[in-house]
Amino acid sequence: MNTQTAGWQQALAEAFTSVEALCDYLHIPTDSVALLPDFKAFPLRVPRGFADCMRPGDPKDPLLRQVLPTQNELIDYPGYSHDPVGDLGAVAEAGIIHKYHGRVLLISTGACAVHCRYCFRRNFPYAELQLSTQKVQQALSYIINHPEISEVILSGGDPLLLNDEKLGQLLEKLGEIEHVKRIRIHSRVPIVLPMRVTQQLLNALSSLSQQIVLVFHANHANELSPAVGAVCSDLRRHGITLLNQSVLLKGINDAGTTLCALSEKLFELGILPYYLHVLDHASGTGHFEVSETAARQLLVDMQSHLPGYLVPKLVKERAGAAYKIPIC
Ligand SMILES: *Cc1c(COP(=O)(O)O)cnc(C)c1O
Ligand code: SF4
Repeated sequence: MNTQTAGWQQALAEAFTSVEALCDYLHIPTDSVALLPDFKAFPLRVPRGFADCMRPGDPKDPLLRQVLPTQNELIDYPGYSHDPVGDLGAVAEAGIIHKYHGRVLLISTGACAVHCRYCFRRNFPYAELQLSTQKVQQALSYIINHPEISEVILSGGDPLLLNDEKLGQLLEKLGEIEHVKRIRIHSRVPIVLPMRVTQQLLNALSSLSQQIVLVFHANHANELSPAVGAVCSDLRRHGITLLNQSVLLKGINDAGTTLCALSEKLFELGILPYYLHVLDHASGTGHFEVSETAARQLLVDMQSHLPGYLVPKLVKERAGAAYKIPIC
């Protein structure tokens, strides 16, 4: 293992997994937040670098709110379920979700570097879906046998948590499929664990004949630290297109000024805002919901302040639909 590899895996192993340790680190008394008594099913996970982007002493910090398990998760909101976007119904083959024309999602691992409480995949049976070595060939065969697939999206979990060897092998195999024109990676890792973007990873990505698109997931400008900025320059120098998707979250980024600041900061780092998702109705996440009426108003607010290319598409996912539905 080279030292860069050892570095990110070590950092991941040292991520916060205890609420007490995280609150202690941030100088926040645990009795100032209504904590969830039991969250073993979807544990806390916060890399130190991400915690360093939080404001010490502020229990309402917008980054902390994304990761802290609170009692609000116990509220049963009507219409919230375990598979709100119909992904389970769309699993075509081991690890493949084929819902949209020409594109497939490849669930490469169930693991994530950070656990986001609002995540629609929090209730997902990953163990059954994730790509074991035996299933890789099956998934590749599916893509090979469907020449209409021009784009493969590595998703998860977080595909950048695969080690360089596994990821390299997968990319290489995808690289050999002629009808695949683009490889897209959906990842929160460059934001929450930027040191994972190693030279070896950059080399693996830039050695492919396909165009590479990396879709980040940041919800607030405070997530975009100087370390994130540095990996963005590396990625761009290697010819990778950088986009970002965010989720509209109550109490975190549901203000026009916050969303505008995020777009401005993203562009400063060479990332274009792509999607702003309204929350999927996954059980345990209802307290993060922003109404569609409020979402539309926020979009108008962004449109009145920003150039068009800094306004993300406001979309929602609907089970069975052929694309993400624009809200405007
Ligand atoms: C979001 C998503 C995609 C990608 O959709 P784009 O609109 O191309 O970004 C593909 N497949 C699934 C299942 C998705 O959820
Ligand atoms: S899939 Fe994305 S949003 Fe969900 S927990 Fe993992 S990193 Fe967070």
